[in-house]
This record gives sequence, structure tokens and C-alpha cells, in this order.
Amino acid sequence: MTKHNQEIVTRFAPSPTGFMHIGNLRTALYSWLLAKSQRGRFILRIEDTDQERFVPGAVEVIMDTLKITGLTYDEGPGVGGEHGPYIQSERKNIYRKYAEQLVASGHAYYCFCTPERLQSLHDANGIGGYDRHCRNMSAGEAAQRLAAGEPYVIRQKIPLEGETSYYDEVFGKITLANSDMQDQILLKADGFPTYNFAHVVDDHLMGVTHVVRGSEYLTSTPKYALLYDAFGWERPYYVHLPLLMGRGEDGKVSKLSKRHGAVSFQDLLAAGYLPQAVLNYIALLGWCPKDNNQEIFTLEELQQSFSVDAISKSPSIFDYDKLNWFNSEYIKALPPAEFAERALPQLKEICPDYVALDKLAALLHTRVNTFAEISGMVDFIAAKLPFDAALYTNKKNKTTPELCAKVLSDVRPLLAAAEWQNDKLFALLKDYAAASGVKAGAVMWAVRVAVARKGVTPGGATELLEVLGREESLARIDQALQELAE
Ligand code: GLU
Repeated sequence: MTKHNQEIVTRFAPSPTGFMHIGNLRTALYSWLLAKSQRGRFILRIEDTDQERFVPGAVEVIMDTLKITGLTYDEGPGVGGEHGPYIQSERKNIYRKYAEQLVASGHAYYCFCTPERLQSLHDANGIGGYDRHCRNMSAGEAAQRLAAGEPYVIRQKIPLEGETSYYDEVFGKITLANSDMQDQILLKADGFPTYNFAHVVDDHLMGVTHVVRGSEYLTSTPKYALLYDAFGWERPYYVHLPLLMGRGEDGKVSKLSKRHGAVSFQDLLAAGYLPQAVLNYIALLGWCPKDNNQEIFTLEELQQSFSVDAISKSPSIFDYDKLNWFNSEYIKALPPAEFAERALPQLKEICPDYVALDKLAALLHTRVNTFAEISGMVDFIAAKLPFDAALYTNKKNKTTPELCAKVLSDVRPLLAAAEWQNDKLFALLKDYAAASGVKAGAVMWAVRVAVARKGVTPGGATELLEVLGREESLARIDQALQELAE
């Protein structure tokens, strides 16, 4: 899908908002994949011409995110390149010349309408838009008013008749009647270009061949295509990505937002997700491999499999359960030492001295979805949970409080003399079950509930005994026996 076999050049052009929305990260990923799958170039450009929305530190957030996720860029802030600067506010002087060129060629015009006039238009017509008041002003009058220093903007002169089409690689042919398009502002009164203008000029000057972005731009792209035509520039390929949706508690699907959960990359990391798990999951939100059902992909594997024709145009739903699954797979794949290194600071904070933290970490490694879950999973270790007699009645293992009390008092002396190792303890309890005729499951249940005081634990009875140590385990069993007797 290249014209004249040229090198593919894509870009990621975020506005610095202070956080990286998951939808933006997906755009970055797909844009990167499109370039890298074809040995092309990937550019990072910061679109900050809306000076009122300046957020300090926001550019760093973008650069950090790309660094953490491995989406390296060949040109951009901090890296440089022959098309810089890559921050639009630093390119301010570039755009005016191009806007004036369009005025000269009859594709744009000076507009001197005051904010008050535009406001009263707006009040009268609602969002009907600009009435093209200055569109037919004579060149002489415009020159005079410019010379007098009147504030002005430059607007695009959209043809009044006909229609404009372009071909989108995902959505197909998109056509808009020219009469449905506004004479949009290209250059603002403060001399800054609008997004609508700046990105077209920059994409052209930077040699971008493929514009990858969210589908919210699908229907404004005809206006951009007209700008390319007006300049006599070759239009780029357009790849608009499907909408990202979230499912609310009521089951309703709407545009993915905070109401559905964490939606920024930074919030997801803070919630305990691994960067590569997030990236892997979002790769599949709108794209899937053509010839298999593979789900776990390294970035390199994605690069090998990616192709634009496998991007779907139907909206994708961001499913937090699915993300949990991806994250647990990535956590399981961590080397044990790396898992422990990440989990231990949390465990040290929560757990008392007597706990065998390395053993606990090993138990958690295969069981957690996110690092943030850990504290909830080990709550029973530090703070003894309240006694709950109902826990001793378990249907599956056929236990009653009475049976549990008998088991606990029988195994108490055996445990006191045992070697404190999971497999030894496990064999001991199994032998006791066989000898006493109590089901092994019931024995394990009684011990587990006595030491943990909860039914769901990261590990079975004897694993917990090992983690808690002999003294603490026996003390908990004693206390359980006492409570059961009462
Ligand atoms: N700055 C725009 C945004 O963040 C970029 C759109 C585009 O990629 O052209 O939505």
C-alpha cells in the first residue's frame, strides 16, 4: 500500500494533556507497528498549539510512556531529526507562510469578524457556525484592514458546491458534501495555527505517508484532504482506528471513560498492571492476527504479524477482566526473582517478622492478576480476621464445626512435632486423614480456615503453615480450638 514504493513514515501526534489515554496509546502502537512492520520511520510530534490548554510536565508523560512501552521513535523531541522542531509551538513561524499562500491562491481568506460578532452569530444560530461574512471581501479592503493592524484570522475557503471524498484504509470511501463543511480557522488571531491546519502542514513537511489516528477525525478529514489539494500536495494514506468503548455496570456500552475504570496508562500502572501486558491487550483492541488465535505477543511478534487490512472498523470494548488475564499471564512469565523483587516491598510492609516472605511470594506469583491485589490477598497474615464459625461448615469438603474441632485437636500435637516443610506437613496431614478416616479435603479445610480465617487464600493449608511458621500456626490453631469450643 505504498505510493511510488516510498518509505513508510508514520507519526504519533498527541496533544499534551498530562496523561496517556489508553486510546491514544493504541494509536501510538498501531502507528508504530505500521511503520516498523514495513521497516519505515516513526515520528513523535507534540501538538500543543492550543496554548490555553498547556499542562506542565505533559510532554514528559508522553515521552516516558513511549519509552516504557518500547515504542521508540526515529524523530521527535529529545531525539531530533531533520524535520524538527517536533513541538508545534516551536514551529509557530512556519505556518503563517503556508496560510498566506492559500490566501494568495484563493483557497483561504482573511476574516476580521470580532469575537462579539461571532458570539452573536452563535447565539442566533446555535452551533450553526460561521456565516462566511468575510469570504468575499476585496483584496484591497483586506490589505487596508491588515495595514491598520486589525486583528484577524485566516479561514479555509471550502467550495460551496460539490463533494469531497477520500479513501480510508479501514473505513473505505468517505464522502462529505462541501456544503456540510465549515470555513474553518487555519490561523488564529494569536498567530498560532489550529490543529486542523498545523497537522496538515507538518505531516506534509515531515514526509508522513500514513496518518494513523482515532476515528473521531474520520469526518473532518475531507477538509484536510482539500487543504492537500489546494497546496498541490500528495494526500497521505489515512488509517482511522475503531472507537474504544467501555461497558458500564448497567451493561450499557459507551465511549471509554473514567466511569469505566482506569483509562490512562499511568493509572493502569499505578493499579499494578505491567506495561507490556497493557500494550499486548490494547494491540488486540481493533486488530487481530489473520491466520491464528494467538493472544500473547511480544512487541517484536506484533511487528511481524501486524497489517492494516486486519484492523477492524467495529468499535472495540475495553474489558478489564480480559486485561486482568493478560496481566496475570505476564506476571506468571516473570522470573521468580523478578516477581519477588516487585512483590517484596509490599509484603514487607504488610507482614510481620515471622512470615517466610520468599515462600509467600512464590505462592502469590502464580495467583495474582495485578500487584495491587496482593495486599487484599494477604490481609489474613498480619491482621487476624474475626472468628467466623460459618467458615467451618463447608459443603464441598463435608465439614462441620464439630468435625473441624476434632481434626484440629488431633493434628495439633502431630504438627507440634513435625518438620516444618510444606511437603512434610502435607504428608503428615494426609497420613492422619487416611488413619482417621476423615476425608483429606476436610482435614486440609479445617487447618486452612483455622490459620487463615478465610476461605480463599493464596495457597493450601500446608503452604500457609509453612509461610506462617510453626509458632504462629500452632497459636492460631489453639485459638481456633478455643473459639470453636465456645
Ligand atoms: N493532536 C491530535 C490528538 O491528540 C492528533 C490527531 C492526529 O493524529 O492527527 O487527538
